[in-house]
Amino acid sequence: MTHPVVLPGTMDDGQQATLGVMGGGQLGRMFVHAAQRMGYFTAVLDPDPASPAGLVSHYHIQADYEDSLALAQMAQRCAAITTEFENVPSGAMATLAAERPVAPSAQSLAIAQDRIREKRRIGACGVPTAPYAAITTAEQLASLDVDLLPGILKTAQLGYDGKGQVRVSNRAELAAAWAQLKSVPCVLERQLTLQSECSVIVARGWDGVMVTYPVQRNVHVAGILAMTEVFDGNLPAALATQAREAACNIARQLDYVGVLCVEFFVVADASVPDGATLLVNEIAPRPHNSGHYTLDACDHSQFDLQVRTLAGLPLPMPRQHSPAVMLNLLGDLWFAQPGVPAQPDAQPRTPDWVSVLALPGAHLHLYGKLRASRGRKMGHLTITGATAQRVRDTALQAAQLLGIALA
Ligand code: ADP
Ligand code: MG
Repeated sequence: MTHPVVLPGTMDDGQQATLGVMGGGQLGRMFVHAAQRMGYFTAVLDPDPASPAGLVSHYHIQADYEDSLALAQMAQRCAAITTEFENVPSGAMATLAAERPVAPSAQSLAIAQDRIREKRRIGACGVPTAPYAAITTAEQLASLDVDLLPGILKTAQLGYDGKGQVRVSNRAELAAAWAQLKSVPCVLERQLTLQSECSVIVARGWDGVMVTYPVQRNVHVAGILAMTEVFDGNLPAALATQAREAACNIARQLDYVGVLCVEFFVVADASVPDGATLLVNEIAPRPHNSGHYTLDACDHSQFDLQVRTLAGLPLPMPRQHSPAVMLNLLGDLWFAQPGVPAQPDAQPRTPDWVSVLALPGAHLHLYGKLRASRGRKMGHLTITGATAQRVRDTALQAAQLLGIALA
């Protein structure tokens, strides 16, 4: 298929050029904001009448992702279509792709939808992953290499934010955990001692042009991203270069179009210069939570580049103009007073935004979700400033004011 450039603004027939996104969560909302700022109309397909992206889009098609009428409407209305989450049924993406340019492709989504396929494909790119074994049958379970224990059993599909994962230390626990996960296809990964975690966001156009952001250092708490730090020296320089190269290598080999995030584990390794080695954890075929700082700290955000890749527009290398720390704002903050343990029957209350907004370089982003619940991503806060030390200090102050646990 040829991929015409979709110019923003009014087209020759007097219609507005419209870009579509499958999924109406916060990532879709930020895509919509970026597209609208450039002059596009937007369409969102999401069954939820109050989805964060649907609430701010010109068109919101409220239907299931596989609803054929809804897909026909998306194809009719949109000049090109992207996605904001990897679990859009790949059949739906293929249906749309028969009519319109779609990025990323159904094949790229299918890889990210299944941890077994994902690890095999990344391994085939020549990039190492954590040691693992696929478990799809009782025989595979029984013949498993004990070197993988203690390990983490993860469902191959539909896990996110640490859901669908069980830590196991021996064979008996493994068998019980697999039964608990309803014996669905899983991977068992060795539990690694992580020095740190990091991620790289790469944007790649239809023509193969590729750009990356600086490497993000990520801190997870209970399997959910809590904080991202991006400034010179957040990771050893050689490791950062290696991570960027690995992410580009994967994007190139997948012939990926759009914004891709590659998440890495950093583990100790005495045999290499920095004493650390990189393993790919997983990939996300879309903008990523660890890239939200780009909205405030870079000249082009990850959502701007998602728009540009989809529309076939030029892709200049993005430039970070300020050191940044991003803190995730989970629904838990609506239930806990800083320093006071959460009460099980507590009524939600609004966090102390006034104090936080008094901090220098604090940028508050709330996603318009109508109800807070524990573990739900309600928004994020980015701190920018003149130096890494200042943004770190300010971020710690913000975390303290809001009661965010960073360990
Ligand atoms: P999700 O799809 O829910 O993000 P991940 O596989 O990325 O699941 O796991 C979430 C987090 O759990 C990781 O970012 C990391 O902090 C921790 N984790 C996952 N797998 C391992 C592992 N094999 N060893 C050590 N920590 C891990
Ligand atoms: Mg993850």
